[in-house]
Amino acid sequence: VAVPADVEDVVSVVLWAAKSGKSLIPRGSGSGMAGGAVGPGVIVDLSRLAAIGNVNVTSHRLRAGPGAICKSIDDAARKVGLRFPVDPSSAAFCTIGGMASTNAAGPHSLKFGAMRGWVHSLDCVFADGSRAFVTRGESPPHVPPVRNFLSQADRIRQTWSGAGHDHARVRKDSSGYALGRYFDTGELIDLLVGSEGTLAIIVGVELGLAPAAKETSSLLASFGSLDAAANGALAARGAEASACELLDKTFLDLAVSAAAHGENTVAVLLIELETDDDASGKKSAAALRAALEAAGATTVDVALTAQSEKEVWDLRHAASPILSRLKGVTSMQFIEDGAVPPEKLSDYVLGVRDALSRRSITGVIFGHAGDAHVHVNPLIDLSKADWRVTAEGLLDDVVALTARLGGTLCGEHGDGRLRTPLMSKVWSEAAVNAFAEVKRAFDPAMTLNPGVKVPLAGRSAIGAVKYDPSLAPIPKQARKALDDLAERRAYSAFRLSLIDGIS
Ligand SMILES: Cc1cc2nc3c(=O)[nH]c(=O)nc-3n(C[C@H](O)[C@H](O)[C@H](O)COP(=O)(O)OP(=O)(O)OC[C@H]3O[C@@H](n4cnc5c(N)ncnc54)[C@H](O)[C@@H]3O)c2cc1C
Repeated sequence: VAVPADVEDVVSVVLWAAKSGKSLIPRGSGSGMAGGAVGPGVIVDLSRLAAIGNVNVTSHRLRAGPGAICKSIDDAARKVGLRFPVDPSSAAFCTIGGMASTNAAGPHSLKFGAMRGWVHSLDCVFADGSRAFVTRGESPPHVPPVRNFLSQADRIRQTWSGAGHDHARVRKDSSGYALGRYFDTGELIDLLVGSEGTLAIIVGVELGLAPAAKETSSLLASFGSLDAAANGALAARGAEASACELLDKTFLDLAVSAAAHGENTVAVLLIELETDDDASGKKSAAALRAALEAAGATTVDVALTAQSEKEVWDLRHAASPILSRLKGVTSMQFIEDGAVPPEKLSDYVLGVRDALSRRSITGVIFGHAGDAHVHVNPLIDLSKADWRVTAEGLLDDVVALTARLGGTLCGEHGDGRLRTPLMSKVWSEAAVNAFAEVKRAFDPAMTLNPGVKVPLAGRSAIGAVKYDPSLAPIPKQARKALDDLAERRAYSAFRLSLIDGIS
């Protein structure tokens, strides 16, 4: 593990790796879901580069180090009436470098989009140790890896143009390199955002900020079928909701109780509207209520108090931690990030439910219904000898379903080591080849995060999953320290501080 104290340290470790042939794995808080920040080689822990600059209230911009925590950035913006509108549920502990690298998103991406649109400038250290700012709207710097890429861009465009319209109709995508976007905008920054530490190490970001919301109101709608809930999500998007989140029955049963949400409720949608004032808020909420009822909602609560609004959003944000505390089963994230074209949401959810029930697995479904992007956490009983066969079969079915519906396996979490071996199943051969050409242009020696975005031979999706009870346990003290960290959701804690005497 290397822990750079400043950017010069990052350059030094990259130069050392380039010379010695070692691979480097950039890491923020390690909260990523796809195994992008773990792997063989030297982990470069960027969490110490966490400075946050002053907010520029005229340009609505802010500069930060890659290790700055998302919530701290948002807090700084809110002090001057602004906000950072990308709001992952992990905002309290994930780093802005990790977010830029995965093109992270959150409930409000329905209105504001994912990270890519909010990154104005990236301070990058490339695989040969060269450093450059890549800024939106300016010609890219001509350091060797960028020059190399630009000289090959026409050829890569030709390869890519054979890719047809892969994933074209999903609203969120963190899979592959964003070549479609890059060839549309000509902005190198669009390619670097979402590149998961495989093209450059991010050592600084300049972000855009949005004005804080003037007035918000939340609606809670219950549905007796997933079809109706999917239609409700389309209605919410049509009404320009700022967020539209789905919690399905399995989640509600576990997190609250069947009695609290009604026996016949199969899913609820939690929807937020941002408006200019209270009067227009009430008017928009009434119109959306009618649209939700027309879509099949059995009840719509529009009169949430500030307290109940907070409680229900807190419940949504606590989804993953609630599931991770279940006893007797393990909530596993390997089909946790699928996104499909919006009109295919109910086909996706019903298809996933079917794949789960054929294997008698409970799967909890929740997430960003407005963007047709849902998290599915299967609850796996690891004491069963064949759990791995079951999990792999489920994964195969969901990958095939996603491909059939024109979806992506990762709407916001990235490919990581989990999904990179699966990319050829959801991307065309031309797209996969174009991704490999991009990687070769920036990092021919495969120094940065090998095995992510471009597959390595012999790797499988869940082959290295850490929960396997047949693996040798890690030392007791380390296990206890890590369990404690997960229990407290203290993912941003500096891991070396878990060892006595290091701070
Ligand atoms: C409870 C919970 C809820 C979550 N909710 C959301 C959510 O709502 N939305 C969402 O998008 N994600 C969510 N996540 C996933 C995760 O928090 C995000 O992917 C986040 O962006 C990762 O940030 P990190 O600092 O932990 O990055 P890490 O996990 O450390 O790294 C993620 C990837 O980015 C690369 N990377 C990290 N820093 C850099 C850098 N400086 N330069 C280059 N590459 C780098 C790593 O190599 C890796 O590939 C959630 C996770 C948890 C545990």
